[in-house]
Amino acid sequence: MIRTHVLGFPRIGAQRELKVALERHWRGEIDAASLEATGAELRARHWRLQLEAGLDRVAVGDFAFYDQVANLIQLFGCEPRRFGFTGQEAPLQRYFAMARGTTAHAHGEGCGCGATSGEGAAALEMTKWFDTNYHYLVPEFDGATTFSLNAERLLAEVDQAIALPASPKVALLGPVSFLYLGKSKEEGFDRLSLLDKLLPAYEQLLTKLAARGVTWVQLDEPILGLDLEPAWQEALRRAYAGLRKVDQHLLLATYFSPLAENLALACELPVAGLHVDAVRAPEELLEVAMRLPLDRELSVGIVDGRNIWRADLDATLARLREVRELRGGRIWVAASCSLLHVPMSLREDASLDNEVRGWLAGAVEKLDELRILKRALWGDEASVVQALLDARAARRSREKSPRVRQLAVAQRLAALPPDADRRVSAFPARRVAQRERLRLPAFPTTTIGSFPQTPEIRAARAAFKRGTLAGDAYRDAMRAEIEHAVRRQEALGLDVLVHGEAERNDMVEYFGEQLDGFAFTANGWVQSYGSRCVKPPVLFGDVSRPTPMTVDWTTYAQSLTGRPMKGMLTGPITILQWSFVRDDQPRADTALQIALAIRDEVADLEGAGIAVIQIDEPAIREGLPLRRSARAAYLDWATRAFRVAASPVRDETQIHTHMCYSEFNDILPEIAAMDADVITIETSRSDMELLRGFGGEGGGFRYPNEIGPGVYDIHSPRVPAREEMLRLLRKAAEVIPAEQLWVNPDCGLKTRGWPETEAALRHMVEAAQVLRAEV
Ligand code: GLN
Ligand code: ZN
Repeated sequence: MIRTHVLGFPRIGAQRELKVALERHWRGEIDAASLEATGAELRARHWRLQLEAGLDRVAVGDFAFYDQVANLIQLFGCEPRRFGFTGQEAPLQRYFAMARGTTAHAHGEGCGCGATSGEGAAALEMTKWFDTNYHYLVPEFDGATTFSLNAERLLAEVDQAIALPASPKVALLGPVSFLYLGKSKEEGFDRLSLLDKLLPAYEQLLTKLAARGVTWVQLDEPILGLDLEPAWQEALRRAYAGLRKVDQHLLLATYFSPLAENLALACELPVAGLHVDAVRAPEELLEVAMRLPLDRELSVGIVDGRNIWRADLDATLARLREVRELRGGRIWVAASCSLLHVPMSLREDASLDNEVRGWLAGAVEKLDELRILKRALWGDEASVVQALLDARAARRSREKSPRVRQLAVAQRLAALPPDADRRVSAFPARRVAQRERLRLPAFPTTTIGSFPQTPEIRAARAAFKRGTLAGDAYRDAMRAEIEHAVRRQEALGLDVLVHGEAERNDMVEYFGEQLDGFAFTANGWVQSYGSRCVKPPVLFGDVSRPTPMTVDWTTYAQSLTGRPMKGMLTGPITILQWSFVRDDQPRADTALQIALAIRDEVADLEGAGIAVIQIDEPAIREGLPLRRSARAAYLDWATRAFRVAASPVRDETQIHTHMCYSEFNDILPEIAAMDADVITIETSRSDMELLRGFGGEGGGFRYPNEIGPGVYDIHSPRVPAREEMLRLLRKAAEVIPAEQLWVNPDCGLKTRGWPETEAALRHMVEAAQVLRAEV
């Protein structure tokens, strides 16, 4: 018996229909019923695709208007009390209130916000879903949290699938991962203590689903791929021993990471089937196949759910046959994880050339791979011969393409001297040389790079891309923006200026478009959170830099001012992390290739007289492997890649790096090992708490180089008072010696408008001046 299924499917729609409908609904242009209709239509369309591919069951429960974890908060009736819901509001209203927050206003008939209390409530916190770029809404738990089942929405979706007609497999996050991914809102509260209250709600649900005719329920427990404390392992045992009472087939799903020491546990839990990620942990597959009792189903996640390459069907079939053999002829075949993390389809993408397009598979193409695998495993190979041959040809084309491998890149990598990642001198000597050259005041002020991306800038870029604005005219327009930004910074009295990044659409795409080895899709959208989608570049080949990428803009900006102009680059790890990356060589090698391209740019900027160069690495933390045992190796190559990019320069050239959204305290020595002369970080929202680690609190590691802790939040138009920033700076100066401190906002200002930007920066510069007068 061979079965195929998917753990989940993209829900945003091939043309981002859900995004469009959501945003229209939030603007009040369409009502809830019309939004619901779009949702229903998308579900039906996506189930049909699954049926056409011959999946045995379609995934139900993976659809969400914002986030699948937020769905569970409503499903199990644990909406945080702080939202002040009365229960009179429509569920969808409450849902969006949790997802997006509510503002203070008089509530009443038709205000639509979902809340009833006057003050407004902040949205649920959002955080990254494991090591993906998807963000989920964080459930909030405390001692008073209760659970009660509200299954209407889910049951309606089940009914919709049955009516299609299709056999539904309901897919939900399991109880232990649900608690794990939530946040304890009370000091010292152990959210695991809620398990016994939560389980009955799951039991009720499973019973209801059984009564509806649902015979398989997939419960995701991706935390099995993490280093779990014994209490959480025990909780998994307890939870599934409890759920066993219910007459329902449970498929326990794990993904993203090796099971490692949880492997035996995963194989022992009393469920009807186990799904494992054979892409992220291929080395564990045979062990699982042998350990898992033969009366359980084994679902092999072998089509990559996290990347966009066409599968090697020959190799995949060989592996599956081996596993089937061990399993007495029975096996389920699936994508490694939910297909939420790949674009809907790439088969007809208008921006890709034929060659590259032929190497790629989006969700729809991955469904087709499952169809082919099933046929071939059935012994019905004749019907898929052509498909298998095509896949083989695509693979060969990718292996042999002269666009993938470039001799010069390989040679350069091989010849890289071991000290290519070292600056000439250590930081103390560099610091002296830089002070001599830059002559900055104490508490130097700067910004993180971008200035407001005004509608005019966007329109000019769009016209240039369409071809309706000539190259020269576009350049003049951008130069005018640069000049404008420089004049304003001078007027504000900032010390280290930036050119403002007017010419950049996106900090990764801008560089990817100019480097060899990248391709761009027209429609390869992946959901990031809510209605927000990203379109990651496809890094398919050896990376090199044909010509300088930023030197003209930067030297132009420098020519306008006597103050130091900071060159602005995106770092190798961020480019790697925010792209779909090739799977035919280690990520470390790809990172090093990107690093060398950035290194060339750094050298050229220095050669053109630029004295300060910032290499942004906001994504270095998110690349951290889920398993602790894999972290040292990652940090080693990631920080080396950064240093390779940053190190071709003389002592007197100052290298900055910038990171945001990061909790770094656990990797501070590694961040320091990047050896940037100055690091700017986001700290204002944590009230400088994040900085404590940098100061070596409690005898810990002390960050040795200079630091610019962000003194104001750039996510809102609010203009903080001078005193507010002064207070934060004083707090920073308690943990970091004053001579090490810089003054800057949390992050780039591209999403802001000029009025609030100028007002806030004025206060920021004044705050620095007050401090200077004191020393
Ligand atoms: N230099 C970039 C900017 O200012 C940095 C953005 C980021 O860290 N995400 O926009
Ligand atoms: Zn940032």
